[in-house]
Formats: sequence, C-alpha cells, structure tokens
Amino acid sequence: MNQTYDAIVIGAGVMGASIAFHLAERGLQTAILERKVTASGATGHSSGLVRMHYDLAAESELTYKSYQVYFSNWKERVGGDCGFQQTGFLQIARREHEDKLRGNVANQQKIGINTSVISADEVKKLFPDLITEHFDYAAYEPDSGYADATLTTNSFIEAAKRNGTTLIQNCEVTSIHAAGGKVTGVSTNKGDFEAPLIINAAGAWAKQVASLAGIEVPLETWTHDVAFLYRPPLLGRIPACIDDVINCYYRPEGSALILAAGEDESLRGEPPDAEDQTPTPTFLEKLIDQMVQRIPKIEESGLHSIHVGRDGITPDQRAIYSGTDLNGFYLACGLSGTGFKTSPAAGASLAELILDGKPKTVDITPFRFERFAEGKLLEGEYGYGHIWK
Ligand SMILES: Cc1cc2nc3c(=O)[nH]c(=O)nc-3n(C[C@H](O)[C@H](O)[C@H](O)COP(=O)(O)OP(=O)(O)OC[C@H]3O[C@@H](n4cnc5c(N)ncnc54)[C@H](O)[C@@H]3O)c2cc1C
Repeated sequence: MNQTYDAIVIGAGVMGASIAFHLAERGLQTAILERKVTASGATGHSSGLVRMHYDLAAESELTYKSYQVYFSNWKERVGGDCGFQQTGFLQIARREHEDKLRGNVANQQKIGINTSVISADEVKKLFPDLITEHFDYAAYEPDSGYADATLTTNSFIEAAKRNGTTLIQNCEVTSIHAAGGKVTGVSTNKGDFEAPLIINAAGAWAKQVASLAGIEVPLETWTHDVAFLYRPPLLGRIPACIDDVINCYYRPEGSALILAAGEDESLRGEPPDAEDQTPTPTFLEKLIDQMVQRIPKIEESGLHSIHVGRDGITPDQRAIYSGTDLNGFYLACGLSGTGFKTSPAAGASLAELILDGKPKTVDITPFRFERFAEGKLLEGEYGYGHIWK
C-alpha cells in the first residue's frame, strides 16, 4: 500500500479522532493509522469525567468549550453519541485549600463556567448519602458529569469518515520520513504513506513515535487502576466527584454501578506495552477504605470489575499541543491522565493552529512543546500541587 494524503494522524484514541474530525471538516484528505484498533489505548479505559475545575485557566477553557460546543450538543455538532450524562460535579477541597478553591472558581466564572463554591451543608442537601464532616467547602458544577470515551472516539471517527477520512487499523507506524526539514510520510507494517502533515497522537507511545522523527519528548507513562462497584440498593443520588480529602474520584456508571479510583496508587514509568491488566495489589482494599469515609453505604457494595489504563504524562502534567522544529510534524500527546474531556476543543484548536497558524477555539499556545526546553513548565494560578502524586 503506498498512498498519499493531506495529513496522517498516528493513533486512533480520542485525541487522534478529534484531530482527524476537525481536519476533515476543513477538507483535508486524512488518514488515521492505528497500530491496534480504535480506543484500544488510554481512551478505552478512560473514566470519562467531564468537569471544568482545573487550576490552570487554559485547561478550564478547553473543557468549557468541549462541553458547550460538543458534549452538550453532540448529535448536532458531531453526530452519533458521546454518552454524556449530566450528574453534576463536585470538587471537594481540603480545608487548607479554601483560598485556592475560591480563586479557581472565580477564574472559572470569568470564563463563563457555571460553577460556585458551596458549603459542606449545601453538599449534604444535594447529596444526602455523602458524609460531609471532613471538609468545609466544595466547588459545584451542575452542568458537568461524564461521557463514554469509546463512543466519543468512534463517533468522531464516523463523522470524519463521512468527510473523506480513511481509518486503517492494525497499522503500526515504524518510521517517519523527512526531507529538507519537512515531513514527507511514514512507513508501516501495511506499507508506506505520504503526507506533508503528520500528527503524533500516540498516547503512552508518543515518546517512541516522536523519536522516529528524531524528536525527544519528555514523556513517561502513568498507569492507573479503576474499579467498578455494584451500586448499593439504597444509595441515593451521587455526583461525579474529585475528592481531595480522601484522594479518590468517583461517579455513577449508568444506574447499576459506581466507578471509583484512587489518586495515589498509580504507577509511573512502566513501558508503554507492559502488561496492563493487573491492578496494584493494594488498590482495591485502599480504595474501599477511602471510599467508605465519604459514602458509608459503599460497605454494602460489591466488586463488579477492575481495569487498568495507561496514558503519557509530561513533567508538568499538562498536555502538549504544538508544532515542532520539523516542519509539518505536530504533537498532540502527554495528555497526562486528564485529556478526554478536553479533546474536542483541543482537536479543533490544533487543527486551527496547523491550518491557520493560530488557534481560534481556545488559545492552546500555553501547551507548546518548547516550554520544556525553556524550563517554563505550566503552573496553575491557584495550584493544588500535582494531580497525580
Ligand atoms: C484509567 C484512566 C482514566 C482516565 N480518566 C479520565 C477522566 O475521567 N477524564 C479525562 O478527561 N481523562 C481521563 N483520562 C485521560 C484520557 O483518557 C486520556 O488522556 C486520553 O484518552 C488519551 O487519548 P489519546 O488519543 O491521546 O491516547 P490513546 O487513547 O492512548 O490513543 C493512542 C493510540 O495510538 C496508538 N499507537 C501508538 N503507537 C502507534 C504507532 N506506532 N502507530 C500507530 N498507532 C499507534 C495506540 O494503539 C493508541 O490506540 C484517563 C486515563 C486513564 C488511563
């Protein structure tokens, strides 16, 4: 197979799918090359939280646009389904972080996000099954919730295909070609492909893929366990929640299950292809110990299943959406365990950066690749510290 395209996207996770969708809308003949099948990487294991609370305004803007233009309006904007469920979202803050919580919420309100600081008593009124003794305040986003990352990816790809995109699965990029400082194409196990634009959206493998183009990206991997628990029969309404006091996040999973994960048992630096189906031995016990502090009815729950996912993570735990010194070679990687919810607007903005020289949907220039070489890592104005310890 030797084919010529306007653009090649490496990786059919949600990021590659979103970029292909937006490039195809602009009329580019695009090929998505995927070494396995769609959503087989981080995306297929994503917890799918859609919340706008970040300590970095640029990330809040990306989710806000992703929610406003895409998740809440999926059928009209993209077609198909993304499985968005509006459950409300709570960011429970430690007492010593009250000022930071208020600062972040004020910044998010300036963006237009529907969020406010509410007291522990107000949390109790909204969600009576939550124990509210170990915190004073939380941020509450009534519009937020979760979506289905695999469905999101597949409907982006179906829409891109309607606009002429070609998806080639079981197709691993093994080398990247360049001439005169510009990319020209790739070699794969299914032959050679030519294109003047190549976008590296290879998730946990993006470091290896960038090295095929002679580019060193400071990426390691982050491996994260997620449990699905049976919903206790008498449990009332719960929101999607990041709970900084017990270091867990959780949300409903349909009507029968609860998804829950801890934030401090994840592994760093596993090889991207390492066996990824085995949770860390202490994961479940620790998770349940933490969860019952907030939702005692979890005692009446049972384990449905556990899965393990792996993403690429950067030194500042923020994504890279950027061109490089190699003309036509772009990076959309290092999504650092939080890149599902931002992928629609990030893909739109990267397509604008590529085609117009300037992003319009959201200013993604803070996520430029050069920040690492310059030692200018991204930090939130009211940072809580790294999300992943
Ligand atoms: C367990 C877990 C829970 C998460 N929860 C959330 C959440 O609640 N909310 C949120 O916003 N984010 C969350 N994230 C993060 C989010 O899911 C990821 O940031 C996002 O899915 C990454 O998408 P991606 O397309 O960049 O990477 P991936 O989905 O990993 O896709 C990369 C693709 O590239 C392919 N590939 C690799 N090398 C090659 C090659 N050489 N040639 C061809 N193809 C190649 C891979 O096979 C893979 O399919 C979570 C992540 C994990 C792991």
